Formats: sequence, structure tokens, C-alpha cells
Amino acid sequence: MTIKELQPERIEQISSDVFLIDWNDGHQSMYFLKELRAKCPCATCRDKKISFTEMNPLRVLNENPNDFELSSWENVGRYAIALKWTDGHDTGIYTYEYLRELCQCDECTG
Ligand SMILES: [Zn+2]
Repeated sequence: MTIKELQPERIEQISSDVFLIDWNDGHQSMYFLKELRAKCPCATCRDKKISFTEMNPLRVLNENPNDFELSSWENVGRYAIALKWTDGHDTGIYTYEYLRELCQCDECTG
């Protein structure tokens, strides 16, 4: 199976801070919501990260990453998932390939 055929079979938030994806290759990915948000691929978040670290690294601490919660998510075509957060942020499009890179399960991180 190539990465192009990778599809999620089940997407579920199983607790207040953990998000799960069952993939069609049998792998189960686990994500902490604050990690997912920290890795948001949208242009706004990428710019923010760069300017924070360049101009004032301490400001990152004020972002309070523990407060982020998912309000909903939806499939984008057959290649990505858009995550919408309770603070209104909804421009992060996470491709399946990117999500697999971010997988925080024991197998992928260990
Ligand atoms: Zn973002």
C-alpha cells in the first residue's frame, strides 16, 4: 500500500485531550490535542511560530497551549482533515501524510 492510498477508517476524540485515527493499513494513530495544535500547518500558525521565536521566545508561553480543544473536524477531499478548534481557529488542513508523521503512538515515537 502506498502513502497515496492511505485513508482513515475511523476518526474519534476519545478523551478531552486525545484524538485517535484508525487507518486503512491497520495502524492506529494517537495524538494529544495540544500537540496537534502546536503542529498546525496553516500559514498563520507557521508565521506566528517564526515571529515568536525570532522576536520574543517568551511570548510562546503566553499562548497557553493546554487550553486548546477541538470543536469539530471534517474531511477535505480524500487527502486531508480540517480541524476546528474551540477558539475559532479553523484554517489548519492536516493531510493524511502529515498526520502519519505526527503520530504519537508508542510504535511511531519509540
Ligand atoms: Zn493554524
